[in-house]
Amino acid sequence: MNIYEEVKNAATIGISGHIRPDGDCVGSVMGLYLYLKKVCPDAKIQVMLEKPAEVFSCISGIEEIHTDFTSDVEVFQAFFALDAAKDRLGGAEAYFDHAEKKINIDHHISNKGCGDVNYIVPGASSTSELIYELIEDKSLLDEEIAKALYIGIIHDTGVFQYSNTSPATLNAAAELIGYGFDFTKLIDETFYEKTYVQNQILGRALLESISFMNGKCVVSMVDKKTMDFYRAVPHDLEGIVSQLRYVKGVECAIFMYQTDTMEYKVSLRSKEKVDVAKVASFFGGGGHVRAAGATMQGTFHDIVNNLSAQIAEQLKA
Ligand code: 5GP
Ligand code: MN
Repeated sequence: MNIYEEVKNAATIGISGHIRPDGDCVGSVMGLYLYLKKVCPDAKIQVMLEKPAEVFSCISGIEEIHTDFTSDVEVFQAFFALDAAKDRLGGAEAYFDHAEKKINIDHHISNKGCGDVNYIVPGASSTSELIYELIEDKSLLDEEIAKALYIGIIHDTGVFQYSNTSPATLNAAAELIGYGFDFTKLIDETFYEKTYVQNQILGRALLESISFMNGKCVVSMVDKKTMDFYRAVPHDLEGIVSQLRYVKGVECAIFMYQTDTMEYKVSLRSKEKVDVAKVASFFGGGGHVRAAGATMQGTFHDIVNNLSAQIAEQLKA
């Protein structure tokens, strides 16, 4: 696939990513946006995305994102869905559906491709790495594009720690830091740093976690009441599941927060033995082998029971 070839005749181009956008989603969307502004200077280019978390305000052009999807659906001549299939675009899904040319770029194994043009590479660390790869003329890269894509890569690889990190990932990152931005500060401020409240909830979630299946699984939950008490939003809970996964002996970590009465957003992480993409897909979600998620209905105990059955089956096999 060649991005420029796909959109060179489009007068209007839209770009979106998934709901509750994470670092890779924001990084890939903004990296592509900044790149397209350079290669298609005459096109009207619009990013349609849920408002990114405050930590991403260091990305150039972030204030130009359209976060309101209530106006009449505009027909874009080309529309990109990044880092997800169209069913996770939220309010932007209608723009994708109505677009003349739909382009889907993603690295989720659970995504079979939902566009007229699809570039789905499950082996890639991140959608940001794919955007980097797809920028054919690297002389068009600049510090701001590099920064956006680098943020995406560090977030989806846990700063080059997860098994999705490949030589290609590190080569891309090597090239990107060559643009001279302060990557140490970027990693600290967008990935590791937590607000006081975020740390408090993390502490509470760890304290209240439950270990089961002889220590092979650990689960924790934050209910709506607690989220309201701390005035926490979903982004404030990122990183809790990774911390649970660090527990010695754990093969699979589960974290969930309540989104409604009898509804929870579930995050799954695994070490070596459990394919959590498979578990999440079974419950209508998706993701990667080592990191996946789903929205599930029922009580906390129902959900843990349902997940446990799937996890136990894999651990037995
Ligand atoms: P997280 O647990 O951080 O929300 O997500 C882990 C991975 O699974 C991410 O790559 C994310 O995009 C994917 N994921 C999380 N929730 C869902 C979901 O409900 N559906 C699908 N298809 N993927 C999800
Ligand atoms: Mn991603």
